[in-house]
Amino acid sequence: MKLCNLIDKIESKYPTNLAYSWDNVGLLVGDYENDIKKILVTLEANEAVVDEAISNNVDLIITHHPFIFSKISRVNSGDLKGRLILKLIKNDISLYSMHTNFDIAKDGLNDYFMEIMGFKNCEILEETHSEKLYKLVIYVPVGYEDKIRAVLGANNAGYIGNYSHCTFNTSGTGTFKAEEGTNPFIGEIGQIEKADEVKIETVVQEGILNKVVQEVLKAHPYEEVAYDVYELKNQGQKEGLGRISTLDKEMTLEELANKIKSTLNMDKIRLVGNLDSKINRVALCTGAGSDLVKLSKAKGADVLITGDMKYHEAQDALDMGMNVVDCGHFDTEDIFKDVMKRFIDSFEEFETIKSEVYLNPFKII
Ligand SMILES: [Zn+2]
Repeated sequence: MKLCNLIDKIESKYPTNLAYSWDNVGLLVGDYENDIKKILVTLEANEAVVDEAISNNVDLIITHHPFIFSKISRVNSGDLKGRLILKLIKNDISLYSMHTNFDIAKDGLNDYFMEIMGFKNCEILEETHSEKLYKLVIYVPVGYEDKIRAVLGANNAGYIGNYSHCTFNTSGTGTFKAEEGTNPFIGEIGQIEKADEVKIETVVQEGILNKVVQEVLKAHPYEEVAYDVYELKNQGQKEGLGRISTLDKEMTLEELANKIKSTLNMDKIRLVGNLDSKINRVALCTGAGSDLVKLSKAKGADVLITGDMKYHEAQDALDMGMNVVDCGHFDTEDIFKDVMKRFIDSFEEFETIKSEVYLNPFKII
């Protein structure tokens, strides 16, 4: 599959517009036209990971942490990042990063963490987006309406809640006069034509609007397609960072911490709070989420599971009577490899391997 087509598939599920504005996600190195057969998934790409990709003949590396984050003003062999970029290009390896868009998106990292813990009915902890919606109206000659509706559905237009392929259709008459230099599908040049047409209306999320319009224009038989796009005031699907869930069965903080240790395969774990505190509602933010302690408590959570908690943040949590399990940044996010491999494998077109390079910079002895 061409890289641009794979990226279309990835971004229809994990749109880049969900990422924070300070983030850097998408294709960071590579050629959209490259043919992709073998993919390496990894939390991040350092020199060892790039070498691993080369020795495994990988075409694409997918990382969670952006490979290029701060501004680069030159690419040369004089620094590590430049050397790695050159190495990727020389070996024809592309690199794609999906970071906060993957944290926020449905079925991304936070949902996957809750899934492997067995916590269900998750809600969003901190709302970051309410997707903008547009109404797309297309005028189609009779006989072509099924084809255009199929294109809309295949490109995820027409979603209302869990209903897909939603459209409204009205029959009518289109009129037009083909001027000199045109090649009309119906009628003659210089004559006013009347055509039986169907007006198809559907709703489209902002993130896929351009792609949907492009695909409709490609499939439509007319040389000049009449279509309208209206901005809607309806609220789209809400997205956000972190998850919160009420447990089916109460557990103690100690039981929860042990469950996390066995799920994430950890030897040790840090926590704030009484080991025998009763836990009924759990908040989660993978990576660095210690600033969500207050919000988690306000939303009724008995504990926040996250990483990167600092000493004074831990003191504040203790003062407000909030439990925190600090699994560390690495351990909450290394599962990126598992969820991403599962997603890529669902296409049944690629060989996907998980990086075996151990990337946690910390050692606990
Ligand atoms: Zn991270």
